[in-house]
Amino acid sequence: MTHNLLFSSATILIVDDLPTNLRLLDSVLTQQGYNVLKAISGELALRASTTIDIDLILMDIMMPGLNGYEVCRRLKSEPKTAKIPVIFLSALNEGFDKVKAFEVGGIDYINKPLVIDELLIKVQTHLSLRAAGKEIMLLDRRIEELTEAREEQINYANHQMEIVRHDLLTGLPNRGLFMEGLNLAINRSKIEHDYRFGVLFLDCDRFKVINNCLGYFIGDELLNAMARRLRDNLSEQDMVARLGDDEFAILLTEAQDITTAAEVANKILAALQEPFNLQGHEVFISASIGISLGGRDYQQPEHILRDAATAMGRAKELGKSRYQIFDITLHQEASRFLKIETELRKAIKKQEFRVYYQPIICLNTGKIEGVEALLRWQHPTRGLIAPAEFIPVAEETGLIVPIGNWVLQEACHQIRQWQVAGMVKESFTISVNFSPQQFSQRGLLDLIDQVLIQTQLNPYCLKLEITESALMEKSQATVAILKQLRSRKIQFSIDDFGIGYSSLSYLHSLPVNTLKVDKFFVQNLDEAPINTGIVPAIIRLAKTMGMNAIAEGVETIEQLERLRMLECDCGQGYLFSEPLSPEEVIELIASEPRW
Ligand code: C2E
Ligand code: MG
Ligand code: MG
Repeated sequence: MTHNLLFSSATILIVDDLPTNLRLLDSVLTQQGYNVLKAISGELALRASTTIDIDLILMDIMMPGLNGYEVCRRLKSEPKTAKIPVIFLSALNEGFDKVKAFEVGGIDYINKPLVIDELLIKVQTHLSLRAAGKEIMLLDRRIEELTEAREEQINYANHQMEIVRHDLLTGLPNRGLFMEGLNLAINRSKIEHDYRFGVLFLDCDRFKVINNCLGYFIGDELLNAMARRLRDNLSEQDMVARLGDDEFAILLTEAQDITTAAEVANKILAALQEPFNLQGHEVFISASIGISLGGRDYQQPEHILRDAATAMGRAKELGKSRYQIFDITLHQEASRFLKIETELRKAIKKQEFRVYYQPIICLNTGKIEGVEALLRWQHPTRGLIAPAEFIPVAEETGLIVPIGNWVLQEACHQIRQWQVAGMVKESFTISVNFSPQQFSQRGLLDLIDQVLIQTQLNPYCLKLEITESALMEKSQATVAILKQLRSRKIQFSIDDFGIGYSSLSYLHSLPVNTLKVDKFFVQNLDEAPINTGIVPAIIRLAKTMGMNAIAEGVETIEQLERLRMLECDCGQGYLFSEPLSPEEVIELIASEPRW
């Protein structure tokens, strides 16, 4: 029988105070192949069972010292021995108490005098039960071990996750974790309807300068020190995360209104004013902060962060080292900007741009001597759009370069056509507005040469208009290009003159032909007494430097008369004509008007 094979090596302890009983049992069981141990008293049995691995105990009851019941009770109270099955050996004449036997934990009993077959069957049965119990215990332990291992794995994975969700340099939460925080806050606001929370977007001012001057190592240390300082200035429940480079985001879970959020921003700005001591360097840094107030109006965490970032951008524009609160107009501005940008790109492809022409009048003769090319956008649904609405976007996105180049090409081509057709004189000029970015583009000289060759326009007829402020911020390189273009006989005007901050010495060094007096001054001309104010000064300045003066925005006869008295060379404005389509302007020119 497999049972015999399995359990014949089992260890059985016999406890009896009578050596004859011990001997008898020993020989019977040993014959069956069991390991037999003998104990002559309860005390010895207890000691044996704690030191040796025992599978079954056969226990006499009446013994001097500890009786069988007591030994069994003690075995059952010790975890190490509690599981060993105990079979009592009972002589009925000794007053065997079955109930007590089971109460103290006995599993069975065998009557004396012993019937060997009964003894062997019971021993075998309980051994196999015991073996099965052991197996179950082993399985239990295995399951326990597996569960533990699994838990460890999960803990490890969680730990890894935590690392992944933190910024390696500063140890702060990263963008992913921050977004989760925002999400929780949004969810809370869906339950508590008037729950609000503050979000701060912080970007260092001039961080690159520090990196470049002091090295990346110090740069990293600075970010670390900043992270600590930010943390120190926030309360427990607030979250500060590093989003990347020199950008941080802060979630103020308890900021119920914008004032509270602004107070925190102020505290942070103040804390950043203290210098950082890094490797013996005193490093100063400031930051610009954008604030948005989250609540149930927001569905997506990205939007709250985007709004805070937009406000941060505004804080930078307003002079840095300050905070700015997001308001919806900022968002509208930003999204309008984006919309225009996409539409502009399409407009280039779909050729929706038009060039309009505004006459420029020689005040001496009263005749049209040239035109200024002014860009218009023929929008499919919105109609004709003026440049104020889209040129800033085009400038910001760099789209002004292809658009402006197109205007140049188109205008030169148009004027040359009119010249060839004899509709305008050979000396008729075309003024084209030129953005600073067009000046910095690669291959500018080639481009202009090509336009002139293609259109066969006399370079002398081309006037490039460039704003005063654009000239001021441009470098020696621009001046060099201006000079090269001048050597081709192309002319230059300074547009919107008077509102920038030109230094006269600088102006003197530029190869410029014309100053265009900004319409703001022209329109205030009627108020000041003649010979005082800006316009006479600019006209005199132009004459002294051998330049022409053109008055922009001439709207009234009075303005015209004053300009004539001041001997201003040219005028341009609604008094003469608005900017017109090519067909309209050539019709006007053909009618040979004189003012
Ligand atoms: P700007 O070069 O100073 O052009 C003169 C602006 O004054 C034009 O506005 C013109 O329509 C307007 N104007 C003319 N006469 C009067 C008047 O009597 N009263 C008033 N209030 N305004 C008058 P516009 O066409 O809206 O252009 C605005 C600006 O957009 C231009 O100012 C120029 O800086 C820029 N711009 C226009 N076309 C181009 C272009 O092709 N390239 C570049 N880079 N900029 C352009
Ligand atoms: Mg202009
Ligand atoms: Mg102007």
